[in-house]
Amino acid sequence: METNKEYFSKRDNFYCLVITDVVSRRDDKISDIFGIPYKTFYLGDGLTSDISLARFWKDIYTIGQYVANRAVVINDIISLKNDVIFEIKVLNREEFLDCIPDEYEVNNYFSIRNLKLKAKETKYKRKWDIFRKKYKASVDYVKVINPHYWIPCKICGLIPLISTDNDIESTACGCDYSIKVEKPKNQGHEYSLCTSWNYKQRK
Ligand SMILES: [Zn+2]
Repeated sequence: METNKEYFSKRDNFYCLVITDVVSRRDDKISDIFGIPYKTFYLGDGLTSDISLARFWKDIYTIGQYVANRAVVINDIISLKNDVIFEIKVLNREEFLDCIPDEYEVNNYFSIRNLKLKAKETKYKRKWDIFRKKYKASVDYVKVINPHYWIPCKICGLIPLISTDNDIESTACGCDYSIKVEKPKNQGHEYSLCTSWNYKQRK
């Protein structure tokens, strides 16, 4: 049976904070008029226009912990006490790896930290890419959000990948069958699909 270790060991998204206060919005408008590219600022060691020097969090919850004493959060918009407002930007692993250079000219806490993170994530990506080949699933299938709730397939032992893009949610594992459910309107993400999947594994 598969251990599904690769499934559990890592986050797949990387979160950083982008400044979005009134001044930066006004600057965007000026950039528009003159056809100058937008300059985006991220929270890193102070503010930085270089995303590779941003501070990255592993999920929205840890951002929440970070800003808890520093900010007010309303609908994903974070307002720090000095009136600087940030929005959360999400990168997937590929986007994160692409934005971090192999070496930095700047040496600060975040350049060192992001290089270490890049090394770790590159290593994990190699492992995951090998593990992913066990699935009979197109590239549209992604990891479930809460793998701990899913029972591994009773035949191939894999926790499934899922596709949730259309009105139908479906699973894919190493076998040829797939569980499909209509995307529920009011239930939590994946809930209905997970219930049907687990039911089938118990039978
Ligand atoms: Zn299977």
